Amino acid sequence: MDMRKKVGLRDRYRLMTRGLGWEPTYQPMDKVYPYYQFEGIKIHDWEAWEDPFRLTMDAYWKYQAEKERKLYAIIDAFSQHNGHLNISDARYVNALKLFLQGITPSEYNAARGFNHLGRQLPGVGQRVAAQMQAIDEIRHAQTQIHTVSHYNRFFNGFHNTQKMYDRAWYLSVPKSYFEDALTAGPFEFLTAISFSFEYVLTNLIFMPFMSGAAYNGDMATVTFGFSAQSDEARHMTLGLEVIKFMAEQDPANVPIIQKWIDKWFWRGYRLLVLVALMMDYMLPKRVMSWSEAWEMYFERAGGALFEDLERYGFRMPKYADVSLKEKDRYSHEAWSALYGYGAATGLHSWMPSESEMAWLSEKYPESFDRLYRPRFEFWRERQQQGKRFYNQSLPMLCQVCQVPTWFTEPDDPTEICYRSTEYKGNRYHFCSDGCCDIFKDEPEKYVQAWLPTHQVFQGNCGGASIPEVLDWYGVINGRDNLDYEGSEDQRNWEKWKSADGQAA
Ligand code: FE
Ligand code: ZN
Repeated sequence: MDMRKKVGLRDRYRLMTRGLGWEPTYQPMDKVYPYYQFEGIKIHDWEAWEDPFRLTMDAYWKYQAEKERKLYAIIDAFSQHNGHLNISDARYVNALKLFLQGITPSEYNAARGFNHLGRQLPGVGQRVAAQMQAIDEIRHAQTQIHTVSHYNRFFNGFHNTQKMYDRAWYLSVPKSYFEDALTAGPFEFLTAISFSFEYVLTNLIFMPFMSGAAYNGDMATVTFGFSAQSDEARHMTLGLEVIKFMAEQDPANVPIIQKWIDKWFWRGYRLLVLVALMMDYMLPKRVMSWSEAWEMYFERAGGALFEDLERYGFRMPKYADVSLKEKDRYSHEAWSALYGYGAATGLHSWMPSESEMAWLSEKYPESFDRLYRPRFEFWRERQQQGKRFYNQSLPMLCQVCQVPTWFTEPDDPTEICYRSTEYKGNRYHFCSDGCCDIFKDEPEKYVQAWLPTHQVFQGNCGGASIPEVLDWYGVINGRDNLDYEGSEDQRNWEKWKSADGQAA
């Protein structure tokens, strides 16, 4: 007998999700789910959870399989037609390197987190949503690797990304973000990833990245972007629903969640500095500036969201005002540092061209000409004289976000911002009040941070010289790193694009 025809949609949904759970009888709940109480979040009725998508597992697989078929057809076509020859400029590929080195392994880390959540939440509705998201995140990592594998045949820096993620200094920023989230309790993980990252900040990764890919002729990346973006709608809804659910379950939950929102907004904002430098410096054809994107997606969209959440007792994240003060310097400070440390990265860096500097002056009338252009022109001159500037020192890293302390004082863009505090006889350093507060609230978590520069000094990273450390990172010295000018990527690109080299 075919049951499917006899059961209505609503009942079918219940049977295929909620109906899959059961009450344990010979073990107490807190032994079956050992993690759900220690954070202090009180849930009185797990069944009160509303699933906005009402997606059953069988429908999920059908829907995802269809998306895969479309995506792989486009990736194949891209590859067969040498799609990489249609991109705007080979410098663009460095944005893809940063994505594959920093974001793709983070997708995988998100899958680990949601699998853990799927096991640890007592509510069946939440468990099913977490299970679907875990599968989504695995799929994102896989489709990104498959798409970008085409570029790996033609460009350097893609060959060893998981190793780089686990070891390289600039990738410890995303790595520590995800690992700090997935080692927190289940409700904090949801607030960090589903709400702060997916709901509040994800548009700032996917929109600029997808439009950036489209503007720069990379249709393969646009396609995986869209394929992931349709899952993102579900993830964002989970983020928002879970915040409302926790707040409605018990008013005592609100201050706990607000503290997490403050913390993970700040961590996420610091993580997005990688996106800021991509938007303003790494895309040969720019979509919009970081400052415009921050206004559109955070100030306006985020502002409206938090107004809406006021009725639950939430307010704007702490230090949101600092992000506004930093928006016309964020990318410039980051690119200056990445350029300076360009000998120690698995991607190329460069000084912007004259027309690119003109774009930056126009987008940042208050800051670019006054604060950054003179430095950049000086560096460009040095580079043209064959004396390209490479910073030979190791940077001091923030103990919390792990970004080198390159940011400036909120009220003075000419003064580097340092904060520090003492804990059990040791001094710890931070990039900002935001990171310093996070540390003071949970010092035992953050004293354990694996800080790449400390590890180099302690002799744990292959040796004491840059070539030895690069070797340990999996970066091929002289090929994957250094200036774009004169790189193998540049030489190949010019050969392929020159009239007699078209057959490549
Ligand atoms: Fe994802
Ligand atoms: Zn920091």
